[in-house]
Amino acid sequence: MMSYTGVEIAPGKARETVHHRIVIVGGGTAGITVAAQLARKGIRDVAIIEPSSKHYYQPLWTLVGAGVARAEQSVRDEARYIPKGMRWVQDYAVEIDPVQQVVCTRNGTRVRYDFLIVAPGIVSDWDKIEGAREALGRNGVSTNYEYELAPRTFEFIQQTHEGIALFTMPNTAEPGYTLKCAGAPQKIAYMAADYFRRHKRPVKVIYATAGGLLFGVPEFCKVLEGVCQRYNIEVLTKHELIAVDPVRKEATFALKDKPGETRTIPFDMLHIGPPQRAPEFIRQSPLAHRDGAMVGFINVDIHTLQSPEYPNVFALGDAAGLPTSRTGAAVRKQAPVVVNNLLKVMAGKEPDKHYNGYTSCPLVTAYGRMVLAEFDYDYKPTPSLPLINTCKERYDMWLLKKYGLPFMYWNLMLRGLA
Ligand SMILES: Cc1cc2nc3c(=O)[nH]c(=O)nc-3n(C[C@H](O)[C@H](O)[C@H](O)COP(=O)(O)OP(=O)(O)OC[C@H]3O[C@@H](n4cnc5c(N)ncnc54)[C@H](O)[C@@H]3O)c2cc1C
Repeated sequence: MMSYTGVEIAPGKARETVHHRIVIVGGGTAGITVAAQLARKGIRDVAIIEPSSKHYYQPLWTLVGAGVARAEQSVRDEARYIPKGMRWVQDYAVEIDPVQQVVCTRNGTRVRYDFLIVAPGIVSDWDKIEGAREALGRNGVSTNYEYELAPRTFEFIQQTHEGIALFTMPNTAEPGYTLKCAGAPQKIAYMAADYFRRHKRPVKVIYATAGGLLFGVPEFCKVLEGVCQRYNIEVLTKHELIAVDPVRKEATFALKDKPGETRTIPFDMLHIGPPQRAPEFIRQSPLAHRDGAMVGFINVDIHTLQSPEYPNVFALGDAAGLPTSRTGAAVRKQAPVVVNNLLKVMAGKEPDKHYNGYTSCPLVTAYGRMVLAEFDYDYKPTPSLPLINTCKERYDMWLLKKYGLPFMYWNLMLRGLA
């Protein structure tokens, strides 16, 4: 049997039907944070649909790519974080029917719900860059956006003694496309540049972005331009990576301000920031935006995080159609809004808590230096730490990134305490 997404539902499986008051699709950062907060409020009749037996702290992958953390430090067993008393449906959701209030899984289980929280994250569209899928992991081509490949990034940095190290940022202005933690492609460029400088290697670092700016918030853009000048990084704007030739070691870009024109740049190592979008079962679902910039992402009110068409449905995290930078830090602010508003709706009241688009990007700029960019829907800086100017490169912020935030993630956020 096929679902509407074309994913085959395993034949011959008993089509078990279960029902839970609340169903959460996705047990990543957002799904587990919300589940833990619900558990703390005494709510137990919850099912979490999550296929992976492992849970990943993805922000560490930047440090893995820079050789200052090990990939294994970013992964733990998912089972440790499913709150006691909740059901874990270890399977892929393949179809959501918001009218019948049911989620179908790949193995044929029908999970019925009264209230639904959708948080399946986003996926990389590697096929959008010709040759990328085959190139990844060899001939100097890597990405920190995949658990297995982040360690290869550091190997390629170490192996580069001269020539060109190229770092790319995809076209996030294209409707339906995005990139989680949009600062990550430039963080690894800064770390690599610092590495080459410390090892006195004559490597030219190029950062090529499909956008027109280094960073959307002027206050932080200025600081980052200074960082690029310090390292002599060549910044190419309006360059969208469209093809990789791993044998010739060449990357081809579409020039966004010269329609139809391309430019090919040779490289010794290449780090790719992938174009990302919502998973297919979300793009095809009635819950998704049908058009506009957020096409394919889940349509929710950007402040209450409630679906306008299906008031018993909420969404948060990377798959939600919210015009802000997709980060775990954003999820931390979204989760209490979803929990509060869901409980209000369950009690027959109106949602009354509002998310303001807060997000934050810890921009590592060197080994031992970090700028903490925090802002909201209006791209206004919204510093959360008192007395510290986090717009500056700081050592204490680096310590926060390396030790403080991972501790907070595993012990507080995923436990419903932060
Ligand atoms: C290299 C890198 C660096 C980053 N740096 C930072 C940073 O410094 N700071 C920061 O705050 N954020 C950072 N992030 C972003 C952060 O990790 C994400 O924004 C965050 O994890 C989003 O949470 P989520 O729950 O929406 O998605 P995820 O955490 O990705 O979870 C989605 C979950 O849904 C599951 N799923 C997928 N498909 C299905 C399906 N069909 N059915 C059911 N479940 C499904 C997945 O298995 C996964 O467990 C970084 C990310 C990367 C990759």
